[in-house]
Amino acid sequence: MIAMAGFMSAIMAIVLLFMRRYYPPSIRGVGAWAAAPLLWLVSTVLFGARNAIPDLLSLVLANQLLVMGTLVYYMGTCSFLGQPFDRRFWGWVLAGSTVVFVVLTYWIPDYALRVGFFSVLMGVIYAAQLRFMLRHGGHNFPVRLVEVVLVLHMAVLALRLASILTGKGGGDLMEPSWFQTLYIGAYVLTVLMLSIGAVLMATDRLRTELEHLATHDSLTGTLNRRALLQRCEDELERAQRYGHGPSIMMVDLDNFKAVNDTRGHQHGDAVLVHFAERTRQVLRRADRLGRYGGEEFLVLLPGADMAAATSVAQRIHATLATGHALDCQVSIGLTSWTGGHETLDTMLSRADAALYRAKHEGRNRTVVA
Ligand code: GH3
Ligand code: MG
Ligand code: MG
Repeated sequence: MIAMAGFMSAIMAIVLLFMRRYYPPSIRGVGAWAAAPLLWLVSTVLFGARNAIPDLLSLVLANQLLVMGTLVYYMGTCSFLGQPFDRRFWGWVLAGSTVVFVVLTYWIPDYALRVGFFSVLMGVIYAAQLRFMLRHGGHNFPVRLVEVVLVLHMAVLALRLASILTGKGGGDLMEPSWFQTLYIGAYVLTVLMLSIGAVLMATDRLRTELEHLATHDSLTGTLNRRALLQRCEDELERAQRYGHGPSIMMVDLDNFKAVNDTRGHQHGDAVLVHFAERTRQVLRRADRLGRYGGEEFLVLLPGADMAAATSVAQRIHATLATGHALDCQVSIGLTSWTGGHETLDTMLSRADAALYRAKHEGRNRTVVA
């Protein structure tokens, strides 16, 4: 079983090293997650060679590598979640525990004391990581999985500690007792599950990042055209079912070409970002802003009738007229859902025609279709 633990560590280290190599660098912590099973692997080899190598290697170093691997895993979790890891504190813990292990190997060579100390130490590290993940990890499945693994392994450690305290812990790790088998088996599974948890956390993050890239405009952070039109279609489908539908606004920045020509494209970009930020602030939670193309935006207002939508349009005009250096004027074509026969195309072309009229009537205004 110890050999199997080593084998698992090696495989999981390889998987995580590949992920570190090929996943975007914005996903942090994978390197540390890959280093952890490598440390566990060396530790396992040293444990396995117990009777062939000096105690300094097979006891002190093997235990400390196990502890270090667990700390490095914790470090990976911290950097994955964008939080600091207290290297100084845990460095002292590692140094202090090395001294204790040396003492318990050479001065007071006591198996029960060593196991007791080791169980408490690992339990403390697991508890710290569990607390950290509960605070910062959120609710997704991979995080929950790692949390459950930590809890289960803490339970096994507690059991091991209890067996030591009651004098039933045995005298040697290699003793063929059911309890040592349970303990080593739990360790093998923990190595495997923690590494799988790391793989799943990183993959879940990758999926979220790709999904965001596929649905959002990179300049303004609003929805892109495809994603917004999809939301509109969904909303119209809902309208068919419930009998009241959305309003749609087509927003076009006025004389934007002139802004680019006189102040430069970078300034133009900044104006677009400013427009998106300000507009988002005056929308309700359910409303969606998307970039339809160039300096044209589309706003979806679920459940908003003409009056509500008009007041949103007024808020947009107002929030862009505060005297800020990046303020701009916009023309808005607005239309509301008129019944079950409505398609997205008919609504969009009405909004477009209204926008055209707004431009024609002198810009910086809203026209209702
Ligand atoms: P109107 O009031 O009639 O809408 O006039 P306009 O100048 O805004 O309209 P026009 O369609 O002639 O010009 C749109 C300009 O928007 C042209 C294009 O260079 C600029 N534009 C489109 N996308 C971007 C962008 O991402 N960044 C910048 N800086 N400019 C952009
Ligand atoms: Mg324009
Ligand atoms: Mg335009």
